Amino acid sequence: MTTKKERIVSGMRPTGPLHLGHHFGVLSNWLALQEEHECFFFVADWHALTTEYADPRKIKDFVPGLVIDWIAAGLDPAKCVIFQQSQVKEHAELHLLLSMLTPVGWLERNPTYKEVAQELSGQKDLATYGFLGYPVLMCSDIILYQATAVPVGQDQLPHLELTREIARRFNYLHCPEAAPYFPEPKALLTEEAKLPGLDGRKMSKSYGNSIALGEPLEDIGPKIKTMLTDKNRLRRSDAGDPEVCNLFPYHKLLTDAALCAEIREGCAKASLGCVDCKKLLMDSLTRFLTPVHERRRALENDPERLWAILADGNARARAVAARNMETIRQTLNFSF
Ligand code: SF4
Repeated sequence: MTTKKERIVSGMRPTGPLHLGHHFGVLSNWLALQEEHECFFFVADWHALTTEYADPRKIKDFVPGLVIDWIAAGLDPAKCVIFQQSQVKEHAELHLLLSMLTPVGWLERNPTYKEVAQELSGQKDLATYGFLGYPVLMCSDIILYQATAVPVGQDQLPHLELTREIARRFNYLHCPEAAPYFPEPKALLTEEAKLPGLDGRKMSKSYGNSIALGEPLEDIGPKIKTMLTDKNRLRRSDAGDPEVCNLFPYHKLLTDAALCAEIREGCAKASLGCVDCKKLLMDSLTRFLTPVHERRRALENDPERLWAILADGNARARAVAARNMETIRQTLNFSF
């Protein structure tokens, strides 16, 4: 963690309810960042269009759902700015301006572009201008706020490098003698606290192996009961190995360290059975999710508050974006 207060921008696409994998992969990091830095967290609804352009209707419903998930998880609108990308039109204006100076070759080299296009080939036609150019939109989202740092996982580093390159190119072309206008945002590399899905594969709603943050506890219990454990532990009297058990990563993230150590020992000595181990996990999940569910219920019962939070965040983001955009226009001699 850095010592100086950084300005941080990060977003998520509204594509459906968040699950525990999202929480431990991204959200828990955001919760820590909001305590120490100036954070802008946005619902990337325009980004969702890059893959959902043929049927964008459901995106609208996912927007409030995503904000509820964030606030239920602990994001505090008093500590960070929560806003919606499409409600700050300056993102689109800067995207257009930056697209003029971004070489196509930089975008074609983007490894995620090739991977996702391959992954979704056959399902969606992603040979679109918008999909190729989405890293430019991503760059606009970040540098519009003159962000100094971006939380990223190792796999997102090429994207951030592209953002830095575009910012550098703008500074080189348009601020040759003045101080560079855009900071080149640095990577705040996040430790990947990966939580496997209930079946050991990557946690994903589409695999049906996830636990949603808003899921009722009574629905989670049966899922935990059927979770895969150490497949070599055939009988209760066999010693198990927590390191190969699919359940233990959950304990590591959700159960306090002392109990975790007891579980590890109990499993290895066969003094703890898997049924009891699963009960302990359910206790931990209940402790973790109860306040999350309470915050969710409070917001769901008060939709006006939810929309007021988003309106306030949009206004705060817009104020910064409008000010910076006017400076950018002036820099380009496009302020009329
Ligand atoms: S006791 Fe717990 S950690 Fe050990 S194999 Fe069973 S479920 Fe996994």
